[in-house]
Amino acid sequence: MKIAIVGAGLSGLSCAFELKKYGLTPTIFEKSTILGDSLDYVVSNFRIMTKFYTSPRSYFKKTYGLDIIPLGMLKKITMFGPSSKTVVRGKLGYIFKKGLEPYSLENQIAKQVNLPINFDTYVRIDDIREDFDYIVWAAGNNKLSKELGLWTSTFNTYIRISTLTGDFKTNTSTAWFNTEYARNGYAYLTPYSKKNATLTLIVNNITLEELDFYWKEFLGKEQIRYKILETRDVEYMTGLTFPMRLNNIYFVGNSGGLTESCLGCGTINAIESGIIAARCIAKKLDYDELMKKNVNIIKATHEFRKVLNTFDNNDFDKFVTFLGAPGVKQFIYNNPFFKTKDIAQFLKYYNKFTKNNNR
Ligand SMILES: Cc1cc2nc3c(=O)[nH]c(=O)nc-3n(C[C@H](O)[C@H](O)[C@H](O)COP(=O)(O)OP(=O)(O)OC[C@H]3O[C@@H](n4cnc5c(N)ncnc54)[C@H](O)[C@@H]3O)c2cc1C
Repeated sequence: MKIAIVGAGLSGLSCAFELKKYGLTPTIFEKSTILGDSLDYVVSNFRIMTKFYTSPRSYFKKTYGLDIIPLGMLKKITMFGPSSKTVVRGKLGYIFKKGLEPYSLENQIAKQVNLPINFDTYVRIDDIREDFDYIVWAAGNNKLSKELGLWTSTFNTYIRISTLTGDFKTNTSTAWFNTEYARNGYAYLTPYSKKNATLTLIVNNITLEELDFYWKEFLGKEQIRYKILETRDVEYMTGLTFPMRLNNIYFVGNSGGLTESCLGCGTINAIESGIIAARCIAKKLDYDELMKKNVNIIKATHEFRKVLNTFDNNDFDKFVTFLGAPGVKQFIYNNPFFKTKDIAQFLKYYNKFTKNNNR
């Protein structure tokens, strides 16, 4: 069986990891010259957004034999509305490192794959279509899915992501909501050591040229004075690819629309979709069917996104205050069984009733 994997990111590498178990050796193409992200940053995984009830490490180890070690647990999140503040504590999630270090998520998985990667090789679908029995499209973007008419957009943003130096408390994160600099998106700061942190601003429905204005507004309004080491601007779109398998092409990770539109989390789904695509190829299973649970969680979080898209600053203040109310804290953060998908049906009716569906 000849299998190509396009992209040596989280989903592509995870796919290779699983294929190897079945004695299948894929050809892996990567446009970049190195493995891992050249920008230092962290990604968070929130407990209430996942489908499992353990840590991602034990979930992946137990279910798939893949070992991914987080930097640490997320134990405290401070949320600011324009004139409100809420602090929540608990086992809120896990923080992983992206970057070039051996403990970055990509490098951890690559080590367990241990296969050659064709670096510096940008692949177009037509270059390889005839040469492989199966193609796993793990390019981290929606370009091919859009070209093939499989893509539906949900939330279009520009993101400025920066690395900072300063004095930070690890295992924490800070989030800001304010339409004046984030519109219906948000900003967050997550330390990855006592001296370094990632600061990110996500703004929806703007152009790249406008991002600088919103960034300056954000830094000024929130009086952020840390030293910025590096920044990068990224266009980031969330949406759905359907079907996720088209003939012999399997769309995984971001290419499969597997990043949720509420907070932009996609790492867990990227890893799992790569593994499931590999199983489907090896055992001739139905990929769209096996990914249904993950896709339904994404659809559920999109119901939240539709509500957030209608918010003004007054609403964001009410929202932040609501998230800190004692009963809500007990129900959401101190309840290991609470998942966002559980209240999606209610939001779906709300969005229908208030005609939020086209936002
Ligand atoms: C700023 C930022 C912050 C984020 N924060 C979080 C977070 O806190 N929590 C979370 O869960 N998720 C977060 N995410 C999302 C998460 O990083 C992605 O969902 C995940 O990395 C997607 O994995 P992937 O395999 O689809 O794509 P990637 O990991 O991006 O890998 C795609 C790979 O394909 C290569 N490639 C692309 N095109 C080609 C081509 N034509 N030929 C060959 N190679 C190609 C690329 O170079 C890249 O190496 C964040 C993303 C960004 C950008």
